[in-house]
Amino acid sequence: MSQAKIFKLLSEAYGLTWSGGIAAEEIDGCPVTLKEDRYYVQVSAYMPERVYEAKHEIFNEQMKAVKGVKCGFDKKTSRITTVLSQPNRVVEQYGALREIIKQYAAPYVEEDKCPYCGQGECDMAAIYNNQYRRVHVRCHQYHTDRTRDVVLSGQGNLAMGIIGALAGAVLFMAIALAIGIFAERSYGWFFVLATFAALGGYKLFHGPYGRTGMVTVTLCSILSMVLYLFCEMVYLIAQYYELAIGEVLKQWPAVIQIAFSPDNLAESWFQLIFFLGGLAWFLIKRPLSKQKVVGTMDVMDDFNRAL
Ligand SMILES: [Zn+2]
Repeated sequence: MSQAKIFKLLSEAYGLTWSGGIAAEEIDGCPVTLKEDRYYVQVSAYMPERVYEAKHEIFNEQMKAVKGVKCGFDKKTSRITTVLSQPNRVVEQYGALREIIKQYAAPYVEEDKCPYCGQGECDMAAIYNNQYRRVHVRCHQYHTDRTRDVVLSGQGNLAMGIIGALAGAVLFMAIALAIGIFAERSYGWFFVLATFAALGGYKLFHGPYGRTGMVTVTLCSILSMVLYLFCEMVYLIAQYYELAIGEVLKQWPAVIQIAFSPDNLAESWFQLIFFLGGLAWFLIKRPLSKQKVVGTMDVMDDFNRAL
């Protein structure tokens, strides 16, 4: 449980509070995000790319001096990143990183634009997309109010949501099948993604939040697994008996019987366990539950700070 120890040490040393897997602080106007992961804490903060390019050798030397860590750079969001994973060193390591942020990032924070509107002169630090960012009070307020409205009212298009979830499910199934056929092996862990594919499709097509969404995604992810087992069996039979796919499909009742026989299900236990793991995660985390989503937003609003 080294990560729990890391959170505790950092919290005590730097007065950080963790909410929903995130801690955040502002160093001289520069918002810093600390994110929990399974075994470590990932830290990120804005830095202009040119400053990183020019200075990273210097400050990575400093970081190395406090043992072990190095900073990386995420070009897409223009963020310096590092990973803290050693409980006996994290306090020192984060301390060194804070100095680097003070010296090389904070002087340029004005250049970091509000992610909502792309304009400068931000007046607030808030969580945006799981990152502590400089934003405008009005942009953040408008966006979160709107999101709360959409979530709570159950607005959205159920028909499109269902189409999206189905599309996600079928896409997942097709990729899983392609991996099976072309790589000639099956990666069990991949099946954890079945539910996320259906969830992604549902959200992308603006399906409404609430119980209907939970049921739709659950059913579509089960459907994708059923489809996968069926199609895989069609392919295996076609291979084995050197038949055309069309010929095998004509015998679909028999294929169903074989694909969902206890023997074949036992054969696929590895995939099924990962699939059920993903589905269980979805049902426990309830990412489409109205109360859950709004509750998380409320918690994240605790990080709001005027700049
Ligand atoms: Zn803005």
